Amino acid sequence: MKTIPWAAAALMCTSAAAVMGLRAQDGSPNLADLLKAPLVRASLDAARAGEPRTIEDQIRFCEVPAPSFKEAARGELLRQTFAQLGLRNVRVDKAGNVLGDRPGTAARPRLVLSAHLDTVFPEGTDVRVTRDGAILRGPGIGDDCRGLAVMVAAIRALRQTNLQTPGTITFVATVGEEGLGDLRGVKQLFTETLAGEVDRFVSIDGSGLGLTHIGVGSLRYRVTFKGPGGHSFAAFGLANPIGALGRAIAKIADFQVPGEAKTTFNVGRVGGGTSVNSIPSEAWMEVDLRSVAPAPLAALDARFQKAIDAAVAEENERWRSPRTITVVKERVGDRPAGSTSGDSPIVRTARAVHRALGLPVTLSESSTDSNIPMSLHIPAITIGGGGRGVGAHAPSESFDTTDSWQGTQRALLLAIALAQR
Ligand SMILES: [Zn+2]
Repeated sequence: MKTIPWAAAALMCTSAAAVMGLRAQDGSPNLADLLKAPLVRASLDAARAGEPRTIEDQIRFCEVPAPSFKEAARGELLRQTFAQLGLRNVRVDKAGNVLGDRPGTAARPRLVLSAHLDTVFPEGTDVRVTRDGAILRGPGIGDDCRGLAVMVAAIRALRQTNLQTPGTITFVATVGEEGLGDLRGVKQLFTETLAGEVDRFVSIDGSGLGLTHIGVGSLRYRVTFKGPGGHSFAAFGLANPIGALGRAIAKIADFQVPGEAKTTFNVGRVGGGTSVNSIPSEAWMEVDLRSVAPAPLAALDARFQKAIDAAVAEENERWRSPRTITVVKERVGDRPAGSTSGDSPIVRTARAVHRALGLPVTLSESSTDSNIPMSLHIPAITIGGGGRGVGAHAPSESFDTTDSWQGTQRALLLAIALAQR
């Protein structure tokens, strides 16, 4: 890397001042000044010109399977790519996250630009990608092979122009974003690997040009009811685990949720019993509770716990067999809710980037890697990688590459803008 030529004249030259940290009154970097910088323009041009390469990467990454908990092979590909593109201190942390640094003139502020390695598709899924004109088809092609490819495109464009940012950018390919991965990669990142060292966080997740600043929190449970079980006729009178399960589901189905902060509940799976003429010894259900805010999620969780306990007590009472039915509530997912204010510097910067590139701004809520930094009050947003994705989480997933370079440019300019002081 070399220093931007005009940075030396920063104190006299307004166009250089943005890179040296001059900020608009709202706390976001002055994008107009930043865009006048020749190396910034050159980097954006490189990102656009490099889009065919970015799409090749997207396919290449996607054809290496990476189910949650089995991301190592795809992680190795990213590790090699980071090293080839000259990132420093390329490493794999305890969870399997792959990290590489692009040092600024100072260690801080540190921006983390990330995308997730894992997919929802189990081992054995055919991950070959087919291409039909502008359309790519393959499991995970948008979510999140697109994010990985855009992250790498940003590294490549900055390398081509040798643009020096004041702050440091750490690129991270995370593990465990999907499903029961339960954000384990990003949790590791913020509790240990980079604890206390991240000032701003951007996750590139999926496709499109959206901007997520609200992290939907979720709690997931597997609840198992157990009893002695017996013959349906001979042992009639025993409390029934499926009876308790039914009572619990009826209570949950009657929950009222707040109107202002979207809060939801779902019993998604049930099971139990062995035959129609046996009182079952076991029944279970899997439940998903969500909210855009922490307090309603905690309130919903408390109600849920009470409903289960009451259902067990009622079933035992009904058959006058106290404590016959027992219950285990196993928490299988915990994604804290959080948000980054629409008025925060990171969101204002993102809006300014959109304006500068002539792109519309659509704010949304979602459950992504950003939930963890948001819950820790570290400025964080999630953005799409451009293009148009259809059918995320389905084996028929597709990605339309038409104008997908816009997503690459957006991520790159945002990274440059957030690596300012
Ligand atoms: Zn994703």
